[in-house]
Amino acid sequence: MTKREREITDIQEILRILDEGKVIHLALCDGDQPYVLPMNYGYTYEEGKLTFYIHGASKGYKYEIMKKNPKIAFSIECDTELFEGNVACQYGMIYASVMGKGNAVMCEEAEEKMAGLSILMKTQTGKDFEFTEKLVSIVNVVRIDITEFTAKKRPKPAAMQ
Ligand SMILES: Cc1cc2nc3c(=O)[nH]c(=O)nc-3n(C[C@H](O)[C@H](O)[C@H](O)COP(=O)(O)OP(=O)(O)OC[C@H]3O[C@@H](n4cnc5c(N)ncnc54)[C@H](O)[C@@H]3O)c2cc1C
Repeated sequence: MTKREREITDIQEILRILDEGKVIHLALCDGDQPYVLPMNYGYTYEEGKLTFYIHGASKGYKYEIMKKNPKIAFSIECDTELFEGNVACQYGMIYASVMGKGNAVMCEEAEEKMAGLSILMKTQTGKDFEFTEKLVSIVNVVRIDITEFTAKKRPKPAAMQ
């Protein structure tokens, strides 16, 4: 990582970014052609293992890619704010972000789809929701097992605080 002094290693701060971010930029690879799309997500972090859940309609290009190649990369950001300067190169953006890599797995069992959607709704809304087998039968739910991740932030320059 360049500018390593901006790296975040505190897991609580990393989880706060995942709570705030709400939108994952999910990168897939169709052969040698990258494909990136924004999606809402839910996550769990248990025993050092980060897992995302995403959902969508029962068909779509993203699923065709994932089935051929489950490898993904992602980025999630929050706290974005432009700061100004006297000249263009003094402008910048404060941010906090998490990036990483993993593998996408299509959830087949209704139990896992229901659990995944409850996790997604908890992350998105902070509220508890339950789902029926009928409801989950018409959507796809994808579990993403994260194999590595890092986090970084750019605070506001000291002169501007
Ligand atoms: C903030 C945000 C949150 C979202 N959350 C979700 C979510 O939780 N679940 C979900 O299923 N979708 C979500 N979407 C929509 C998502 O980005 C995709 O549009 C959708 O999932 C369809 O993707 P697909 O690969 O199946 O494309 P398809 O519907 O199969 O379409 C294929 C083509 O359509 C075009 N296309 C697809 N999506 C987009 C797009 N977003 N913008 C411009 N062109 C596009 C591309 O050229 C793509 O190759 C969200 C979008 C935004 C902006």
